[in-house]
Amino acid sequence: PKYSKEDVMRIAVEQDVMFIRLQFTDIFGVLKNVAITVNELDKALNNEIMFDGSSIEGFVRIEESDMYLRPDPSSFAIFPWRPNEGKVARLICDVYNPDGTPFQGCPRNVLKKALDEAAQMGYGMSVGPECEFFLFLTDAEGKPTTVTHDNAGYFDLAPVDLGEDARRDMCLTLQQMGFEIEASHHEVAPGQHEIDFKYDDALSTADKVMTFKMVVRTIAKRHGLHATFMPKPVFGINGSGMHTNQSLSKEGKNAFDDPSGPLGLSQEAYYYIGGLMKHAKAMAAITNPTVNSYKRLVPGYEAPVYIAWSPKNRSPLIRVPAKRGAATRVELRNPDPTANPYLALAVMLKAGLDGIKNKIQPPASVDENIFHMNDGARVERGIDSLPGSLDEALKEMDKDPLIRETLGEHIYTKYVEAKMLEWDEYRTKISQWEIDRYISQF
Ligand code: GLU
Ligand code: MG
Ligand code: MG
Repeated sequence: PKYSKEDVMRIAVEQDVMFIRLQFTDIFGVLKNVAITVNELDKALNNEIMFDGSSIEGFVRIEESDMYLRPDPSSFAIFPWRPNEGKVARLICDVYNPDGTPFQGCPRNVLKKALDEAAQMGYGMSVGPECEFFLFLTDAEGKPTTVTHDNAGYFDLAPVDLGEDARRDMCLTLQQMGFEIEASHHEVAPGQHEIDFKYDDALSTADKVMTFKMVVRTIAKRHGLHATFMPKPVFGINGSGMHTNQSLSKEGKNAFDDPSGPLGLSQEAYYYIGGLMKHAKAMAAITNPTVNSYKRLVPGYEAPVYIAWSPKNRSPLIRVPAKRGAATRVELRNPDPTANPYLALAVMLKAGLDGIKNKIQPPASVDENIFHMNDGARVERGIDSLPGSLDEALKEMDKDPLIRETLGEHIYTKYVEAKMLEWDEYRTKISQWEIDRYISQF
């Protein structure tokens, strides 16, 4: 349901809502909120709620710390897991400057801007993400471990799958919050799960990804488990991705679908793929934003390494699922759930649009398993690889003006600064692997 301001005021009273969390996402993809009481709701919906932006990482300097929150009434939702009397609800907000202009550091504004540009070209963007996650046991102090509670595999059923109860509860909670759940299942690795919700317009989907992660973590906790969206928590088994199914619409129709085109795809679909492939390396710092992200992007675990596309197999970066008609889409397989969904969707969209604007024809599809090709065969076919580390990814991003322009100067600068620090912190640490490998040998 898409609520209006009046709907929100009415439902809040009808439903006995006491607190409203005003939520927004920082540039690193972390959900933030301030709670107000229902007495302040009217004020909030008139965009009069101010907060101190200086305490939020990557937001503003101390001297210009007053920021305004503009709630999106259509995002109103009650937290089903909170008390039934004096309920808690939330509103997702955009961040604005005191002078009434959209704040450059607000990721939601960045996505809106990219969507406006698409709209000027006559396009809307639909997105369906596939968020994978692990459920781990906690220790005596309640701290997360990397020990899984089960030993099940892909599509297994209870009683092996102990995550089933938790997953069921997650699906029900998400449904109560307005999600349409399409499928949920145990993933390939022990303790790994996936819950898929129905595709929606890009902005709603980005909001949903943030809500999804909050719900999954909250419900896991109520089942005594820790849910993590860390891309590769355990060596030697699959990591967690956030495959991003995306399509453009034009005049209410799927613009990627063309029954008379090769493989039933339109020229725009091919150009969009071309654009995604061209910018894939530069986007990686956004779609795969952590040190750990790059431990997932290695051969052998169903995660992509090479920049190729295919209508068939799952080893390339981009797959075109078989469905046509309204469900025609491309699936970009490298993003992981640590990505800020607003920024990630903004850069993907802009990359695809660049493909369309500049008629970037993708290379021929690669329909055999790329992991079984040797380096020579790959070089011969001109198959490039994704960055191998956060450091490499940042260098790639630096070379691509499109990504910088999409993020805007404010976010670009803060993001790169923080991510370089993150890399440097990691780079200078001594790992257990090094101790094991060298301490006796030398
Ligand atoms: N977990 C795999 C990944 O890292 C994906 C498995 C699948 O195809 O769903 O991307
Ligand atoms: Mg999956
Ligand atoms: Mg998939």
